[in-house]
Amino acid sequence: MINWQTFEFETRAIRAGQVRTAEGEHSEAIFPTSSFVFNNAAQAAARFSEKEKGNIYSRFTNPTVRNFEERLATLEGGERCIATSAGMGAILSLCLGILKAGDHIVASKNIFGTTVTLFNTILGKFGIRTSFVELTDFDQWEAAIKSQRTRLLFLETPSNPLTELADIRALANLAHQHQALLAVDNCFCTPALQKPLALGADIVIHSATKYLDGQGRCVGGAVVGSQDLIKEVYAILRSGGTTMSPFNAWVFLKGLETLSLRMKAHCDNALQLALWLEQQPLIEKIYYPGLPSHPQHELAKRQQTGFGGLVSFVIKGGREKAWQLIDSTKLMSITANLGDVKTTITHPATTTHGRLTDEQRQAANISEGLIRISVGLENIQDLQADLVQGLRN
Ligand SMILES: *Cc1c(COP(=O)(O)O)cnc(C)c1O
Repeated sequence: MINWQTFEFETRAIRAGQVRTAEGEHSEAIFPTSSFVFNNAAQAAARFSEKEKGNIYSRFTNPTVRNFEERLATLEGGERCIATSAGMGAILSLCLGILKAGDHIVASKNIFGTTVTLFNTILGKFGIRTSFVELTDFDQWEAAIKSQRTRLLFLETPSNPLTELADIRALANLAHQHQALLAVDNCFCTPALQKPLALGADIVIHSATKYLDGQGRCVGGAVVGSQDLIKEVYAILRSGGTTMSPFNAWVFLKGLETLSLRMKAHCDNALQLALWLEQQPLIEKIYYPGLPSHPQHELAKRQQTGFGGLVSFVIKGGREKAWQLIDSTKLMSITANLGDVKTTITHPATTTHGRLTDEQRQAANISEGLIRISVGLENIQDLQADLVQGLRN
């Protein structure tokens, strides 16, 4: 067995977890099989009673999926990973695995909208309550913790679309003082730019749908953490079926192989676009952690090894001007998805945040002039040229 932790990140992203079959294939094999065959009845019994390790049924063990799990676990620096059907399947499996009725979650207000729905509407039905706090306000996190009952702190950093950061180390310490766990949804940075476990977090969540795939092909997710915690998540997968398909796992494996290079290129393009946008007279405000004007630029430098691919800005003239700019683009895709080599452009107030009331949107700083760009890997000059017409008065 190779100890992958002795290799650098880029090497692990390309090599870790592969088990070559007798065919000697160079690229990873895909195992599209629902079940596995035993040599004899005694072996079947040993596998089912977990006396012998090995495959039984692809709802909970599949070689291609395991390959992806091992590779992502080493990239995040976690003991074990469980791959899931979607990012939401990862969060659901985590919560069902580690929480019970009466438990309490403290979560940041500006997490992914469907996660808010999952916490409030679905977990709420089973007696799990969630309090929502300002991501950047440590005192609010502290005040929201109800000792004993609070079992989980949950956040995304940087946030979407305003790129606010949480201090992971400070919140991990806070969680541990209260015997709670900190889970970080690391979707926007990926382990190429940020390693929450090394900063003290207990669990990393992924929507592999975004940068891990990186080319917008598959939906999937993952939970990474210690053996003890992931055992509970695995139990949900085994009996609840929030399973990743082998084909998707293979696509994500290919995604991981270029993750490091892609994230560097996303960061480069995003920084160049942000610096250029900052010069444009029609831009009222710009949100990008790589700009010295970002209120948490220093934290971003300390906590991340790159500033990410999301750039948001407010254009003067409200919704009318924002829609005009979006509609004037010919190259960028008008879609709410992100984390793709193809650049996407979104108007949060009327899409991702469209279901909020006016007051909620104001409180969340999602103004009518706000535009989010998930900067892809096209040539930066072509991206700038695509925005020029809409940025004219
Ligand atoms: C997209 C997303 C999710 C949900 O992932 P799916 O793969 O769509 O289920 C969760 N968290 C964040 C931050 C996301 O962007």
